[in-house]
Amino acid sequence: TTVNYPEEFKGFAISDPSEWSNPKLTSYVPKTLSPKDVDIEIECCGVCASELAVLKNKWSTGPLRCLSSSYGPKTQCVGHEIVGKVVKLGEEVTEFKLGQRVGLGAHAYACNECSRCKEGNDQYCTKAVGTYSGVYPDGYVSQGGYASHVRANESAVFPIPDALESHLVAPLQCGGLTVYSPLKRGIEDVLSKGIKPAVGVIGIGGLGHMAIMIAKALGAEVIAISRSTSKKEDAIKMGADGFIATGSAEQWEEENADKFHLLLNCASSATELPLDRLLKTLKVNRKFISVGLPDIREKFEVSPFTFLQSGSTIGSSLLGSKAEAIELFELAAKHQFKPWVETIPISEAGVSEALTRLSDGDVRYRFTLTGFNEFFGT
Ligand code: NDP
Ligand code: ZN
Repeated sequence: TTVNYPEEFKGFAISDPSEWSNPKLTSYVPKTLSPKDVDIEIECCGVCASELAVLKNKWSTGPLRCLSSSYGPKTQCVGHEIVGKVVKLGEEVTEFKLGQRVGLGAHAYACNECSRCKEGNDQYCTKAVGTYSGVYPDGYVSQGGYASHVRANESAVFPIPDALESHLVAPLQCGGLTVYSPLKRGIEDVLSKGIKPAVGVIGIGGLGHMAIMIAKALGAEVIAISRSTSKKEDAIKMGADGFIATGSAEQWEEENADKFHLLLNCASSATELPLDRLLKTLKVNRKFISVGLPDIREKFEVSPFTFLQSGSTIGSSLLGSKAEAIELFELAAKHQFKPWVETIPISEAGVSEALTRLSDGDVRYRFTLTGFNEFFGT
């Protein structure tokens, strides 16, 4: 399996945010191989809105991070819903073997030694390195999965069960996991009392549509909350028990007052997010958790009096742990839920189409780039 192993990886990358919708095919050296690194020959990769934020440089007030990489490319390749085959192993890797199908989400490294890692919160490891645009201790800026290969630490690599198809499990690794973790943590106290929790999922895009299916599989009643009614039929097909269009004339917050045990916000912007009204639908002492990460200049605006009415809490959540990823794969296999994926063969045109359409909201509901082995000749 290492016969065709390349010195350099190939990937689609930009060097300036103005090129966000047109990454070009480039070659670059991978980071230095550490004893616990795994090299994955990529088969397919999902397309997450976080990629748009990094390519457009919406989460930073400085230049693209890759420009300060100490060695390797000064260009940025993104992609963090990766599925592929192990083609090279560092000498201390114990968890994976050559030829095995594996996956990688939004982190490529966790230390496995700090208290956060040991307590099952490796997604919050203070030494974690992002799969792309993350900085390794030696100064290399990580490169993502719109590429022939990716190098990652075994601590972040996921084993993938045979029951799940590559192009469908791909988006579970960032988008799916990011909603699974706060859903599970946000309703387990209710489930343990034998009560069926009510969950409101806000923003029915890639993450939101998976949140509907995952919350159902966890045993919740799920209401899809979107800006308009255009996704209502789809949301019901995904399993939603009800639908709220926040932009409608109805007094939906009165009708749903004291309804939800958890509100999970998956919207990529706060410009059309009626937070004050949404918080009125929470039960007493429950949470509004935002996984959606808007432009760094956007703020949540909410009056303290809104919190007061139901003693509610507002917070956030980052990705999920590796153990939770494995649980999620098991849940998907058991409940047979499948993300709604449109596949696009990888090429410069394909990457451009996926990014442009995602940016335009023209996706129902996740893209997976496919055909990597054909394109890269791997
Ligand atoms: P999508 O673009 O697929 O979905 C985003 C959804 O947000 C849209 O479908 C839309 O839902 C809603 N939306 C869009 N524009 C606005 C607006 N101006 N105001 C209010 N709502 C809006 O994105 P993804 O699902 O891929 O990602 C969602 C968010 O989650 C992104 O911000 C992403 O960066 C973030 N993310 C966070 C992670 C974490 O660890 N916390 C990990 C992964 C992603 P509708 O039409 O139903 O209103
Ligand atoms: Zn993502």
